[in-house]
Amino acid sequence: MSKICVIGTGYVGLVTGTCFADLGNSVTCLDVDETRISKLLKGIMPIYEPGLQEIVERNVKAGRLIFTTDYVKAVKDAEIAFIAVGTPSGVDGEADLQYVRQAAESIADLVDSKIIVVNKSTVPVGTGDWVAEVIQKRRNGRPLDLNVVSNPEFLREGSAINDFMQSDRVVLGSENRTAAEKVAELYAPLRCPVLITDLRTAEMIKYASNAFLATRISFINEIANVCEELGADVKVVAQGMGLDKRIGSAFLDAGLGWGGSCFPKDVKALAHMAVLHGTHPQLLQAVMEINRNQRRRLVYKLRKALGGLNDRTIGVLGISFKPNTDDIREAPALEVIHLLENEGAKIKAYDPQAMENAAQILQKVKLCDNPYQVAEGSDALILITEWNEFKQIDFNKIKELMNQPVIMDGRNLWDEKTLKNMGFQYFGVGRATKP
Ligand code: NAD
Repeated sequence: MSKICVIGTGYVGLVTGTCFADLGNSVTCLDVDETRISKLLKGIMPIYEPGLQEIVERNVKAGRLIFTTDYVKAVKDAEIAFIAVGTPSGVDGEADLQYVRQAAESIADLVDSKIIVVNKSTVPVGTGDWVAEVIQKRRNGRPLDLNVVSNPEFLREGSAINDFMQSDRVVLGSENRTAAEKVAELYAPLRCPVLITDLRTAEMIKYASNAFLATRISFINEIANVCEELGADVKVVAQGMGLDKRIGSAFLDAGLGWGGSCFPKDVKALAHMAVLHGTHPQLLQAVMEINRNQRRRLVYKLRKALGGLNDRTIGVLGISFKPNTDDIREAPALEVIHLLENEGAKIKAYDPQAMENAAQILQKVKLCDNPYQVAEGSDALILITEWNEFKQIDFNKIKELMNQPVIMDGRNLWDEKTLKNMGFQYFGVGRATKP
């Protein structure tokens, strides 16, 4: 059993800390956000993540999981400190490392015993070395037995607990193999492959993985647009491709493109790193451009179908960047809503979990309590996030409530034939139905 501290209790830190506690470790989760910690102390989850509440409660009760804003309490006696703070996009797309720096400096100020600092945040290649430098500089000659390990995180919001407990792999990078092996011991109960590398390679594995997944989505979206023009069905094309074992079927769903707190900033940051070091990331640039275009294309189709967007009422189903999360950071819905509002459309919207977050930034949008309220008086309904709740909608009721029965199925969720037979004008993505 190791004494662990997790710095940052967001989607990654909270899930990581809770899961390590569930594996029998003593974990202190630390955050500078007092509201977040006071919620956790009352047993209220600050994020929506399926299954999280129960496992937090179990470990708090067992005394293995503590929440605090007190750095001294959290890091002073920790053997292993995970940094899981945000690394948002900064100027020119480079990762903003101010929170990582703050965490590193706090460790430098408070720790005197041997410590392994594990970086879980997604950070530019070379940051592990930089963290060690920041700490040593801050110590100003006071000795510290320090090792830095990079342990990039691959969990997905919405299935984070499962992704942690059944990881495909754990990647650990360090210049000190013993330190990496000590961290590997924490993961031993998971019985998953552990890849130990040097620091920079581990950091690059994270960026390369996210960029590759984003590339697959942009690839299928480009194919979808060609399908749409040539009369092929991209859903079946993807199915046919995916049956090839060399290709596989994951991340081949055509739609409105990728968003969220990771892909946009990570692809941008990788492209920025590439340019900074004199290479030309042509593929990454195209992957980002295709993604932006996917939202514009939907707006174009809608404008054509409705003969203009000014003063039209558009209903939006789904605001979170993907189902099963309340996270709306860089969600496709925000960009689509922005583009529609720019053309004078009025927006009504509903999301099963993201309404609280949406209310903070979508000032002009009428936020509704359910899909039927959204449909009422709408000239078109756009499906943006494929929540389960939207799979079984009563389309008879929807049709009665709408001003015009126009549906833009941005995720190819619904059955085209059924909706057309019911009298809807239906547009999917890459399915040959043109306005
Ligand atoms: P988040 O914004 O949800 O959480 C970050 C937390 O860190 C916040 O609660 C913030 O208050 C806290 N924080 C900031 N500075 C701090 C400091 N100095 N000391 C203590 N706490 C501090 O972020 P997230 O989504 O959990 O992402 C964290 C990192 O993990 C990012 O680098 C991200 O790219 C990476 N990542 C995220 C995901 C994901 O699905 N969200 C997946 C893989 C990797």
